[in-house]
Parts: sequence; C-alpha cells; structure tokens
Amino acid sequence: MVAREGSADLPPAYAPDADMLEAGRRLFAQEPRFMLGCVAMEQLPEPGVPEVAFAGRSNVGKSSLVNALTGRKTLARTSNTPGRTREINFFDLDGRLRLIDMPGYGFAKAPKTAVEGWTELIRDYIRGRATLRLVCLLIDARHGPKPSDEGLMALMDQAGVAYQPVLTKSDKPKAGELAKIDRKMSEAVAKRAAAAPRAITTSAVKGWGVDDLRARLGELALPG
Ligand code: GDP
Repeated sequence: MVAREGSADLPPAYAPDADMLEAGRRLFAQEPRFMLGCVAMEQLPEPGVPEVAFAGRSNVGKSSLVNALTGRKTLARTSNTPGRTREINFFDLDGRLRLIDMPGYGFAKAPKTAVEGWTELIRDYIRGRATLRLVCLLIDARHGPKPSDEGLMALMDQAGVAYQPVLTKSDKPKAGELAKIDRKMSEAVAKRAAAAPRAITTSAVKGWGVDDLRARLGELALPG
C-alpha cells in the first residue's frame, strides 16, 4: 500500500483503476530484453516503439526501482557492468514498450569531462527523440529535487518531453517528512509545462507504488 493522503490544495495522486493495474502487471510480467547500450546519438536503435526513460541523480535508487518494476535483476546487472554505466541502455518489453536506463547525473567524483559527456548525451537524446513518450524523473523522497534535477526539468520543458516525478526510497522518511517532500515536488513542477502535477511515491524495498508506476507506463505501451 502506498499513502495517497494529501490535502485539498495538492493535485490528486495518480490512481489507476483495476484494469490499468492489470494491464501494467501483464506488460511487466514479460522478460525485458537488453537491446543495446549507446554512448552516442548515432548508435540509437531505430525508433518505432514508444520509449520511457528513467533519469535521476546517481544513487537515487534507479536500479532498485527498475528491478522492482520488472521483478528481475536483469536490468541493473547489465547496467552495472563496468563500462555500461555511462551508456544509455535500451531494453525491449514485449515489442510494445522500451525502457531506457539513463546514466545517473550529479556524481561529483566522476571526471568532469565524463560528467559533461553524459549530460550532453542525455540532452541530445531528450531533445531529439520523437518516440520518447515519458521520462520518469526519480527524486529521493528524503531530499526532494536538487539543482541538477531542476536543470533536467528545464530541458524537458523546453523540449516538450513529458515527465513523471517519482519519489524513491519513501520507506526512509517519516510520514510527515514524506508529505513535505511530496508537496515540495508538486510546487517545483506547478509552473512546469511538461510535468505530471504530482509525484508517484515508491519504495523498491517495500514494493510501494510499483504497481501504480507499472500502470502508468502500461498506458504508453502499444496494444498487446
Ligand atoms: P542508482 O545508483 O540510482 O541505480 O541506485 P541504487 O538502486 O543502486 O540504490 C542506491 C542505494 O539506495 C542502495 O544502497 C540501495 O540499497 C538503496 N535503495 C534503493 N532503493 C531503496 C528503497 O526503496 N528503500 C531504501 N531504504 N533503500 C533503497
């Protein structure tokens, strides 16, 4: 169960019905197939299938959440292979949806040029990919959005790419803290054109919000 409490002045939480939840569950019951990892725009696979990308600061819990979504270790294991972490990794889900694992950003210890390189690739991909339907913007539920997240939001607004804020590790903060961050996140996107108005709150450890996120992504998939 995930807390759906809010207050009158907050946008309503995403609340899929039973059919949407079932459609999401079925889609994510399929084995994701690793397609390829790209370090440059020229390497991107042929477009055609809707794409959903996962983006966030390093250590935000991206691998854990993607694993929880797919119920497998496949995705994280592949993306954690040395040399793959700077790539944009493409996974095919039943030929109906592609999951795109983006490199984490805001990692101060990486050499500056490497950081710039990832940012450039992320920028190019977000600006130039017609089949990119949604970016799941992962934000740590203890901290809320940071300047690097705001930078990505601005880019997505400019590019007109829809994004869904997703709070991760929501088992960590106390209920009051979580409510505060949820509100802060809504305030951060209130004036942003391309953002969903309310975050989906998740915990990969507890499994909270995972069904909701599957339903949300299932809405974007080609019909089964
Ligand atoms: P990534 O770098 O964004 O892929 O992050 P990881 O998935 O590797 O997670 C970073 C750290 O946060 C690891 O120590 C995870 O065990 C921890 N973590 C990830 N998701 C959760 C969660 O939902 N709850 C808690 N408590 N810890 C989490």
